[in-house]
Amino acid sequence: MAIKGGCLCGRVRYEIAGRLFNSSHCHCSMCRRQHGAAFATYAQCNPDDFNWTSGAELVKVFETIPEAGWCFCRECGSTLAGTVDGQVTSITLGTVEGDPGIKPELHIFTGSRARWHEITDDLPQFEEWPPDNREPPGKAP
Ligand SMILES: [Zn+2]
Ligand SMILES: [Zn+2]
Repeated sequence: MAIKGGCLCGRVRYEIAGRLFNSSHCHCSMCRRQHGAAFATYAQCNPDDFNWTSGAELVKVFETIPEAGWCFCRECGSTLAGTVDGQVTSITLGTVEGDPGIKPELHIFTGSRARWHEITDDLPQFEEWPPDNREPPGKAP
């Protein structure tokens, strides 16, 4: 069954035909600003499995580093996905409807976490990228 999600105003919606993997909480300063939150939670998907099912014309891509960026709804501002080389490679777990079938497995970029936020779970923490995951935030903006 496809994983579905969408933005706050409901105009932009997506579907993922396959599974999600590599879910993480990112504490980097870019994600904190993008989301206005202590951290942002992502999961990766196969770009071939991802489709905008409505509102694709409202999706704005904001590129932070060359070839990688975030997709958000121009209307309501919800951050929906991350791109690498123009392809959606990750989604924001908070925009998935229902059970995404995955739970966050680690904290990344804890070296730049908000000083007012304390991590209280037992998931592994990495100051930057974990050793086996050096790709840009398409995976986890
Ligand atoms: Zn919207
Ligand atoms: Zn980040």
